[in-house]
Amino acid sequence: MQKYFSTKRFGPISTGHRQWRDDGHCAWAHGYGRIVEIIFGGSELDDRGWVVDFGDLRDVKAWLESEWDHRILLAADDPLLDTFQMLHDMGGCNINVLPAPYGPGIELSCQYVFDKVNDILKEKTGDRCWVQQVRIWEHENNSAIYGSFPTQWYKYPLNKYGIRS
Ligand SMILES: [Zn+2]
Repeated sequence: MQKYFSTKRFGPISTGHRQWRDDGHCAWAHGYGRIVEIIFGGSELDDRGWVVDFGDLRDVKAWLESEWDHRILLAADDPLLDTFQMLHDMGGCNINVLPAPYGPGIELSCQYVFDKVNDILKEKTGDRCWVQQVRIWEHENNSAIYGSFPTQWYKYPLNKYGIRS
């Protein structure tokens, strides 16, 4: 059965993180203006003809900002956690420790957003809508995706009109 989809972007949100297991420069605290795109799916449209009400996603935006904005995301098993916690307590940074299975990088951040927003949406729409996919860009060249593509469109090449058939 065919379903309906819509997308919404949030950001850029200034977000720091560190990947302590990396032997390169990603072990250092660094950051990006994260942009997140969520693809929503709906089994049917509401009475206005919408999948989700874009104006009714302020709670999602507020949650994303409370999690990421001007914060440093850290893994729960980061060996420097106590030191970052000390800096946090001294007002030098605002850390956000991600519990397993989530983590500070964009792949696991996608999964974190997916799980949270899917719950919000299902509750809000009585299971009519769900999150199909979450994509996070850390800059224009790098992004990660969690979830599934809404249809099998990616299997089909573009035809001469630029349409997937
Ligand atoms: Zn990095």
